This record gives sequence, C-alpha cells and structure tokens, in this order.
Amino acid sequence: MLQAEIKSLLKEDISILIKVPNSAKHYLCDCGEASLLTVKEVQSVSAVFISHTHIDHFSNFDGIFRHQIGSGEKIVICGPKNIHQQIEARLKSYTWNLIDENAIVYEIREIVSREEINVYKIHPPHWNLELIKTQNFLFENEYVNVDFAILDHKTDSIAYLFKEKDSVTFNENASEFKKGKWISELKTAFENNDSDKEIQIEETVYRASAFFHLLTRNTGYKLGVIMDHAVCEDNYEKIKTVFKGADLVYIETFYKDEDQEFAKINYHSFASASGKVMNECEVKEAIPIHFSRRYVESDQLEIETAFYKAFQGN
Ligand SMILES: [Zn+2]
Ligand SMILES: [Zn+2]
Repeated sequence: MLQAEIKSLLKEDISILIKVPNSAKHYLCDCGEASLLTVKEVQSVSAVFISHTHIDHFSNFDGIFRHQIGSGEKIVICGPKNIHQQIEARLKSYTWNLIDENAIVYEIREIVSREEINVYKIHPPHWNLELIKTQNFLFENEYVNVDFAILDHKTDSIAYLFKEKDSVTFNENASEFKKGKWISELKTAFENNDSDKEIQIEETVYRASAFFHLLTRNTGYKLGVIMDHAVCEDNYEKIKTVFKGADLVYIETFYKDEDQEFAKINYHSFASASGKVMNECEVKEAIPIHFSRRYVESDQLEIETAFYKAFQGN
C-alpha cells in the first residue's frame, strides 16, 4: 500500500513524501519547508511532483537538489506550464565549475494539458534545457501510474493521483502442488485472461483456468494529493473525474469557514468546501492539509472539525 507522510510542521509550508511498497524509491509532492524530511529520504526520492510554483510550494527545491547532486541518478520532476524554465533558473543561479556533467540528470515533465506533456532534460554544469519529446501520459513505472487534474488557483495547480498497479496473489495454502515457476506463468495467464494457456507442473500439463481459483486480484491503492485550488464548480468537476472512489486524498484547506472571504480572494479553499467535495468524490479517507500560517493549533482543530463534518455529509 502506498504511504504518505506530511513532512512539514504547523506554520511551515507543505511537502508530502510518498513511499512505495517493495521499492526503495520515494516520491515527493511539493517542496515547501519540511523540517521532518531527512537527508536520507531526499536521497531516495526518484520523482518530484510540483503542484505550482508559489513560494510556499517551491522554496525548498534548492534544499532538495543540494542532496541529490552527485548521485549520478536520473530524477523526474513533474509540474505545471513553465516548470522547466523555473527549474532552469534555480539551477543556473549557482556556480557549478567543480561539478561533473554526470553528477545528476533531471528529466522535467511540463504539463501543458491533459494530453500534452513536454519532456526536457537538463544536467550540469551548464544546465541547458533540451526538449526530448512530447508525450500523452505523465508518469508510469512498474509500481505506479500517476494521473492528474489541472486545477484553477489563478494559475495552474496540478492535483496528482498515485495509482498503485493491480496485483495478483497466489493462495499457497489452497494448492496441493509444490511451488515452482508455474506460479508466475499461471499469474501471467490470469492477467492476460488466457484460460487455455498450458501450465506444466512437474510432469503433467494442465489448462491454466484449472487453477484460476487459487488466485486473487488485488486492486491497487489510490492516493491523491490536491494542493491549492479555488472553490469553484469547474475545479470540482475535474476533481470528481480523477479522484472518485480514491482510498485516501490529502486536500488543501487553507482557511477556516469564517475566513472564506479570504479563500475567495486568494483562489484557495476552506474547511467545509474541501470536506464537501471529498464527500461527493466518495473517497474512503480524506485529510485536510496546508493551513494558513496565521493559524494556531486551535484554528487547525476548528478546520478539522468543519472539514470532517462536511466530509461525513452532516
Ligand atoms: Zn498557491
Ligand atoms: Zn500554498
């Protein structure tokens, strides 16, 4: 199951680390201040997902690449329109004369629209952007597939949905045969719906479908991160399309209900609005995040109370 950890304290900005089961690689959502993020964790980050580049979401990017340079790895950065130029500007603002050109490579994926993702490469010491290709998906590997919605925050703000790949498990206790490579062949046949596939166990050949009852398909966990967004129907339609039925969603809830006038002015959300859209999305669990820095603990409690009341449909 995918696991998320909020790495920022109250009154800090926002950064969420996502850990992937069976993988030593982590994903980082936004680069706000994050006292709880360790150097070791940063060094395990293989992809960074930026919602937008307001300073509270991007100020710690330097702190992140400070610990990545020298790894020799390829690190993916996804973000909204112009993210490639903003990364380039940050990288070029330092002196790199002592850094090897293989010290790191960033692959930047600029989200232009739902169907148009521009992929750039950039590496030291000159950090000159190179457009590699344009593709129609954002991010996929053997563990996860990342979907997204482009929300309005008076600028594009990308909300990400991390979908763990479905898996198939074998019920060992229900089988009378010795374990062997036939189990993985059986799983493949099951995944491909290939009932007639011949499976050899010891000296005998069977039809794959004879053992399908020993397998269970597990739907992958869906974890969402929705950062800054305005309270408006247009955003909610997009949120419902992508996040419907997700297992767990973290959602920006910058203001208390009594401060909702500020939410309107600043294209942010407030407690009961965030809770209500999560209720309409029928997500299993929802957590409000990213509170205004003027708030103290009692305000956070007030936000959480109003949020969960709306989330539970009361
Ligand atoms: Zn913002
Ligand atoms: Zn923000």
